[in-house]
Amino acid sequence: MDFDLPEELRLLKETVRLFVDRELIPIEMTSMDGAIMRPEVRALLEDKAKKLGLWHLDVPQEYGGQGLNLLGMVVVWEEIARTIAMPPRGPSVFGPDIRHVLFTLNPAQKEKYLFPVLRGEKKTAFAQSEPDAGSDPGAMRTTAVRDGDHYIINGYKRWITGAADADFLQLVAATDRAKGSRGGLSMFLVDTDTPGVKVVRKTPTVMGDEPCEIAFDDVNVPAENIIGEEGGGMRAAQSWITAGRLYQACRGLGVAKRCLDLMVSYAQQRVTFGAPLAERQAVQFMIADSFTEHHMTQLLVYQLAARTDAGAAGRHESYMAKIAGTELGFRVADRCMQIHGGMGLATEMPISKMWRDARSFMITEGPVEVMRMVLAREIFRGRK
Ligand SMILES: Cc1cc2nc3c(=O)[nH]c(=O)nc-3n(C[C@H](O)[C@H](O)[C@H](O)COP(=O)(O)OP(=O)(O)OC[C@H]3O[C@@H](n4cnc5c(N)ncnc54)[C@H](O)[C@@H]3O)c2cc1C
Repeated sequence: MDFDLPEELRLLKETVRLFVDRELIPIEMTSMDGAIMRPEVRALLEDKAKKLGLWHLDVPQEYGGQGLNLLGMVVVWEEIARTIAMPPRGPSVFGPDIRHVLFTLNPAQKEKYLFPVLRGEKKTAFAQSEPDAGSDPGAMRTTAVRDGDHYIINGYKRWITGAADADFLQLVAATDRAKGSRGGLSMFLVDTDTPGVKVVRKTPTVMGDEPCEIAFDDVNVPAENIIGEEGGGMRAAQSWITAGRLYQACRGLGVAKRCLDLMVSYAQQRVTFGAPLAERQAVQFMIADSFTEHHMTQLLVYQLAARTDAGAAGRHESYMAKIAGTELGFRVADRCMQIHGGMGLATEMPISKMWRDARSFMITEGPVEVMRMVLAREIFRGRK
């Protein structure tokens, strides 16, 4: 049993770490304009990433990408998450955020939707959540009713990241509400300029991102725009979800690592009552616990990624990773804030932003309680 990363991934991790330290952390307090990364900053960094061979890392080689496996992406994601220079959701400077369902499109769909995304000509958003269906997509009310060679879509989506700029949506809708998530949901490619699609409003959040609400009023979508077969919507959406959970776990790992570094450094400099904080047991314990918990979680996340790459991972493992990684991120960010005292609360420091981001990862793409619920189900069924 080998617990070390393969040499090529250690080198990749080091390259990304240096990129984050030299290019991203120094500009992280000025790189964003609200929810958006400043276009000139993004363009410059994308150019540098391309020159370093850090572009389209998870895109399969047949589409011109690097074809990194999940373990490779995990080490990249955890390094990237050490900085707040980029939005916590959406495209990084290493290429657009492409859900893997787009690689399952048929040839005509790839021509119209996947390739323009890869070339940077089109933007897309994933639209599943609704006012009454967040954790529980089976409760969704948006319907797609077949009408000859079209589907007519009616409904309302909420919390859709990037929808205001998207050219098309990967939309999940009910084709059979009685079946819910057990075969009743289907996934469609919906151009956002189709009559009847309307971005109603943005919802500002404490993290600074502004997901959108979208109304669908008798939207006519060609039947050829269905992804896979009717009723396969959950399967299509799920195809990204293990990677999505790992992504969120890595966000937590990255936040924890950066906060740990900040804590160690601050505890050594800051003197109270005549001694550095580093000499106080209360502070030492917070740092020692954070270090231990980070190490344990990193092992869990790496192991899950390696087992997923080998086709050996059980579903329960991604639930564990999401719970452990996201809760670690928030816990360590919170300790970091505490150790920094007032400076932990100052918005001129990155800590409060990491703390807010880390809090959100415990909710988005499946709250930790729902992860625990489905994990417990797997345990009781003896399927772990
Ligand atoms: C910034 C942001 C970006 C997002 N981007 C997207 C996107 O791009 N596309 C998209 O489709 N969605 C997106 N979402 C939606 C996100 O995935 C949902 O918010 C999330 O799944 C939770 O759904 P909900 O908010 O409706 O919470 P609910 O489902 O109403 O749950 C509320 C709370 O109840 C508790 N809970 C729920 N069910 C259970 C249970 N069974 N047992 C115990 N406790 C439970 C949990 O604590 C949960 O946090 C985004 C959300 C945010 C905030």
